[in-house]
Amino acid sequence: MGPDDLTKTFVRKGIGVSPGIVIGKAYLFDRLDTQVPFYKLSDPGLIDEEIQRFRRALGESERQLLELKGKLSDVDGGMDPQYIIDVHVMILRDQKFIDRTIQNIREMSVNAEWAVRITVEKYRELFDRMDDDYLRGRISDIQYAEQRIVANLVGKKRAALDMGEKVVMIAADLSPADTAQMKIDRVLGFATDIGGKTSHTAIVARSLAIPAVVGLENITRSVRTNDDIIVDGTAGVVIVHPDPEVRRRYEDKKRLYEEAEDDLLDYARLPAVTKDNYSVEIGGNIEFIEEIPSAIAHGADGIGLYRTEFLYINREELPSEEDHLVNYRSVVGVKGLAWATIRTFDLGGDKFFKDQKHCRELNPQLGLRAIRFCLKEVDLFKIQLRAILRVSAKGKIRVMFPMISGIEEIREAKRIFAEVRDELLAKGESIGKDIEIGVMIEVPSAVIVAEELAKEVDFFSIGTNDLIQYVLAIDRINERVTYLYEPLHPAVLRLIKHVVEVGHRSGIRVAMCGEMAGEPAYTMILLGLELDELSMNPLAIPRVKKIIRGSTLKESKALLNKVMTLASAQEIRTYVEAAMQKRFPEEFQANGQ
Ligand code: PEP
Ligand code: MG
Repeated sequence: MGPDDLTKTFVRKGIGVSPGIVIGKAYLFDRLDTQVPFYKLSDPGLIDEEIQRFRRALGESERQLLELKGKLSDVDGGMDPQYIIDVHVMILRDQKFIDRTIQNIREMSVNAEWAVRITVEKYRELFDRMDDDYLRGRISDIQYAEQRIVANLVGKKRAALDMGEKVVMIAADLSPADTAQMKIDRVLGFATDIGGKTSHTAIVARSLAIPAVVGLENITRSVRTNDDIIVDGTAGVVIVHPDPEVRRRYEDKKRLYEEAEDDLLDYARLPAVTKDNYSVEIGGNIEFIEEIPSAIAHGADGIGLYRTEFLYINREELPSEEDHLVNYRSVVGVKGLAWATIRTFDLGGDKFFKDQKHCRELNPQLGLRAIRFCLKEVDLFKIQLRAILRVSAKGKIRVMFPMISGIEEIREAKRIFAEVRDELLAKGESIGKDIEIGVMIEVPSAVIVAEELAKEVDFFSIGTNDLIQYVLAIDRINERVTYLYEPLHPAVLRLIKHVVEVGHRSGIRVAMCGEMAGEPAYTMILLGLELDELSMNPLAIPRVKKIIRGSTLKESKALLNKVMTLASAQEIRTYVEAAMQKRFPEEFQANGQ
């Protein structure tokens, strides 16, 4: 994706080197080393003058570095920014480096800038041959020294950066000296083309606790100053021009991240089992495959919801079967994840691809969305199903269909699925033997006919985001009615209870993958409801596990039984919040959270 694509959402995967999430405007940090001038010295008499010019640039570079060093504070532990500046100063003083450059000026009769470049190229060849990744990466120290000398030779000076508002700094790479020139309190995050865990941007970002992703390869070419950007230093992902839906999800993630104390991560590794031995499977909800490492790190047993429609949004072309395949290969059979639940694409509602935008409906949440759209555009649907089936032999797959409102839709979806499977089998493709098929329960009619639906599928997954929207008639993205959006509404709790009971009576698993599943204040209620799986934003997992491990099924059922006798959402909320505050005083402050 190039700079011509001015407003499309795109995701870049790099290496997350400093954790945390920031959402803001990009600022493209202009490097000084783009043009290294080259010219031959017209007269051999100019050689000595050129050598003097080189020496003056060395002296000036050293003076500047020492001045910048004074501005950087000490950091505990080995590789601090001041130490890195010392290394750069050592390079400027290195006799071999100086002699080689002078020799280049003399022998080649070239300008000092070019002579420095030739010297550095020689070092680069040497470093490239090193086996050790860390040592190989240290060529960047020599390149920083080069950049500074050349900048002084050409007389280029960087004015102190005035970034105005707080920004996400985008750069090819950043030296500690570069960083010292920034008003660091204005930097929200870093995203760089090159670098790894030990690169300077990484070291500096960690020392300043600023989220950073490095090694993005060409982020400087794809982003312009003032572009909207999200940096997720935990997952190692950068998202440029996030659309409102993606932005909203990341605002949630950011909040969750900031709420999560470090010690909560200890819970990520522990099983989600109550004190009386009732265990719940924990899924991670993802929109992009780049979030998988974060799902694993935060303690997901599997992927409980992969929102595949994000493959369609904001792109010119529809994704091909190969595009799907590439993505699904990264989700299925992944070490550390026991299963992957792929939800077939849920376009429409508040998520559209380019062509759909032209036929906007007056009431899209009730329109041609999700499975309805797939059953109408069967060829499109089949492309996705083929890709899912083609990876199914690689690991445990659960496929689920969104927005099922009645028996015909699931039967038709299954019929098409079987048709695609038979076509692939006829071609000799290997297909997984135990693919589970499920429906999302997110339309009230599906709850009412749950008994019949259960006969058709292996599992239910309750999508509370939509279920609440439809049962309480509240547009989930209309901020004017959010005050009515209430997961603890007695109608919602009764529907969920009914779905779990019907599912269990029919011998199938019942999961929940709406946002409600990741809200720790509701965890005991959900335990009491005996859901088999809770799937949530990965960052929510540690805290939910902490609540599960601190509770018993018995007390959770008692809490549920009590609230089921209350008549209003407000009464239930007040009761649940008080109970959770009493039970987990550390987790829930007196104001409700
Ligand atoms: C839901 O509706 O609860 C759900 C999980 O799906 P989405 O939020 O993608 O509609
Ligand atoms: Mg939904």
